[in-house]
Amino acid sequence: MDNLDKHIKKFKIVLKVGDSCDILKKLKINFEENKKWDIDDPEIINLDNKYMIRALKKGSTYLKLFTINKKIFNYSIKINVLDKEINTNINDKNLNIIDISHNKYSYEILDNDINKLCSTYKDILNYEILGKSYDNRNIYLLTLGNKNAKYTLFIQASMHGREYMTSVLVMRQIELLCKNYYTSKYMGIRVCDVLDNIKICLVPMANPDGVDISINGAEIINDKNLYNSILKVIMENKINHEIWKSNARCVDLNRNFGYKWEDNYDFNEKSFMGYRGEYPESELETKTIADWTRKNRPYMCISYHATGSELYWDYGQEGLLLNKSIRIRDRIKDLTQYELMDRSVAYKTGVLGYSDWVSMYLSIPAFTVEIGSPFVNAPLDREQFNDIWEENKFISIELCRYIFNNMD
Ligand SMILES: [Zn+2]
Repeated sequence: MDNLDKHIKKFKIVLKVGDSCDILKKLKINFEENKKWDIDDPEIINLDNKYMIRALKKGSTYLKLFTINKKIFNYSIKINVLDKEINTNINDKNLNIIDISHNKYSYEILDNDINKLCSTYKDILNYEILGKSYDNRNIYLLTLGNKNAKYTLFIQASMHGREYMTSVLVMRQIELLCKNYYTSKYMGIRVCDVLDNIKICLVPMANPDGVDISINGAEIINDKNLYNSILKVIMENKINHEIWKSNARCVDLNRNFGYKWEDNYDFNEKSFMGYRGEYPESELETKTIADWTRKNRPYMCISYHATGSELYWDYGQEGLLLNKSIRIRDRIKDLTQYELMDRSVAYKTGVLGYSDWVSMYLSIPAFTVEIGSPFVNAPLDREQFNDIWEENKFISIELCRYIFNNMD
């Protein structure tokens, strides 16, 4: 970030086509005389003299507000415009099991929610315990739809501790489909017909110890040795526990998969983030998910992370796999308007995680979806959830529909 950039205040807002919005009110900012603005793509939004934005067309653009004389009052606003109407009668109004008012979605809340959801919708939703974390929390797998279906959409969330908003999001996606299972259609097809052919397998919290460390601190960890090493990492790095990403052994699970594992060298020792571990799949959580993926070979894999409003899809795959990845990528992009990250960008960040491994070693289309504003780090504030929900609520059914339309 250069000096000038530090003075630019950055925001992200989400609108739907046709919506109007008073930008100053929405962002709670004062903006005085000598106003000027610039819109990167004026086909997507326009702005009038009273600072009312109108969303004209689906897409993503930047609005920059600046005063002529006072550069310090610059604002840069990323605006995502989503479809107004999607052809579905799926209704998200009366979802009452996954309570989104929780600021912090801990393992304990997840555990409760899984029990409640599975007992309410027992004919269509099941859970099993895939494995355990080092501090003895369960790694759950939920299966929605026909459990004997030939095709599988695999989704996993919260591989990084502080990214627990991804767990609420995927749990709510599941509640939405359960509630609408027999009554609703999506793009002309009944939800139950889609999910009779394609099952959704979901690991809602791949790193439950990490989530609880981020929410509660090292004290939540019962094992004395683990607790001591976590505390050491927190003290030595002088960090707040809230930004914790690793598991309870201080390994970054998304750097612990096999593809180009040796390139993940940004931290060489136990850390709250970025440490790849002693060898690929050295960690229980990583091994559990890698084993399941190898054995079950889903049709595609989605990894939810935070933050960025970005979609990683390009790992160097070629031929048919590349073509298929592009078609699926475009479906996710169409709903979320997240920014497509091609390989040149992805490799600069040095992240070689689960999706890279799935795509390059198993030849299965895989996508990393980063929710939340690109201008903040996780943990995300509860205030961002509604926008994230609007961008992502139909992702799982849309991807199942994609598989449905492309079945052999
Ligand atoms: Zn992450």
